[in-house]
Amino acid sequence: MGRSDDVRDATRVVRAGHPDTEPGEPFLPGPVFAAPFHSGGDPADSPHVYTRYGNPTWERYEQALGELEDAEVVLFASGMAAVAAVLFAVLEPGESVVFPSDCYLGVRALAEQQLARRGVEVSLVPTARMDPSAIADDTGLLWLESPSNPGLDVCDIAALAGAGRARVVAVDNTFATPLGQRPLDLGADLSVTSATKHLSGHADLMMGYVATRGSGLAQRIRDWRRMAGSIPGPFEAWLAHRSLATLELRLARGCENAEAIAELLVARDEVRGVRYPGLSSDPAYALAARQMSRFGTLVSFDLGSRERADAFLSAADLITQATSFGGVHTSAERRARWGQDEVPDGFIRLSAGCEDRADLLAEIERALAELGGGGSPPTGTAAAVS
Ligand code: PLP
Repeated sequence: MGRSDDVRDATRVVRAGHPDTEPGEPFLPGPVFAAPFHSGGDPADSPHVYTRYGNPTWERYEQALGELEDAEVVLFASGMAAVAAVLFAVLEPGESVVFPSDCYLGVRALAEQQLARRGVEVSLVPTARMDPSAIADDTGLLWLESPSNPGLDVCDIAALAGAGRARVVAVDNTFATPLGQRPLDLGADLSVTSATKHLSGHADLMMGYVATRGSGLAQRIRDWRRMAGSIPGPFEAWLAHRSLATLELRLARGCENAEAIAELLVARDEVRGVRYPGLSSDPAYALAARQMSRFGTLVSFDLGSRERADAFLSAADLITQATSFGGVHTSAERRARWGQDEVPDGFIRLSAGCEDRADLLAEIERALAELGGGGSPPTGTAAAVS
């Protein structure tokens, strides 16, 4: 906690979670590797007893994230570990859950394969149609993801949280990050982020966290982590903390690049279904402009067929083919290769990185030109993805 309101995000991230200055000490102390710590007598008298119960390295990163979120933060070994903590520690027996039908496929799988068979009633609503009238009054947990992965639809978080239909409202804020959207300020109870993506930003570790201003919820989630053992490693937590200092710089460049790429794509005849919430022509623009302070680094579009999408990705050397997003490297994947998202075969999700914008645009133009077919539009797929 302790978010200083007098500085902006770019300033805050540089020192977030750093200890007070001490002559001879490093700016950010190194990772503390320990399973047990020296301790005896009453465990409550020792700040650290056993790393599954708490570790000074993650506590420092949690404090840093807490300064950004203006909330209490509980760190996990991955985004999915954070999601699972919310689903299993917050839901009461007999309660029902509403999920977006187009949210991250791992979250849907957890809901459908684990919650549903434990008797939890799971309802799915598309993000673009997620409004209070779609939510039953006695819902236990309303899970939102805005913008959604991979379709980039947006829902009105303040309206949905304000309607009070669900006991708890959680928002997966992974696409936007706390520097682009503040679900807790919009009325959500929980904000969940995969720090594997932009927060750590270098495609080299996995991490996740839950932020909340409800101390009872924070305690339940912390207790779950201790019992389930879904704890981050100290080295990964330290690396993620080290990367936080450049978060604003990376996001600023990535968002600028994403917008430029979206503008290029939308003007090309070979491309259809371009989605970027920051395009004024995008169906999500008006709402995104109201609730987001940055439109993000992700762009999605359809090249019309599996062959054309694969050819484009193979031709574009500056676009790394990979799943995941939010790193310094521009990356993309043909999303239908997973067979679990309802997207056309030629649908690509692209994550804009920190490269020079002119280089990226030139590379995309070159790869599109190599597709052949000139300006002929793709055939055989739906135009949009929502
Ligand atoms: N939420 C969203 C929106 C995601 O895209 C992902 C992963 O891609 C996750 C959660 C899960 O995060 P992790 O892969 O760190 O477990």
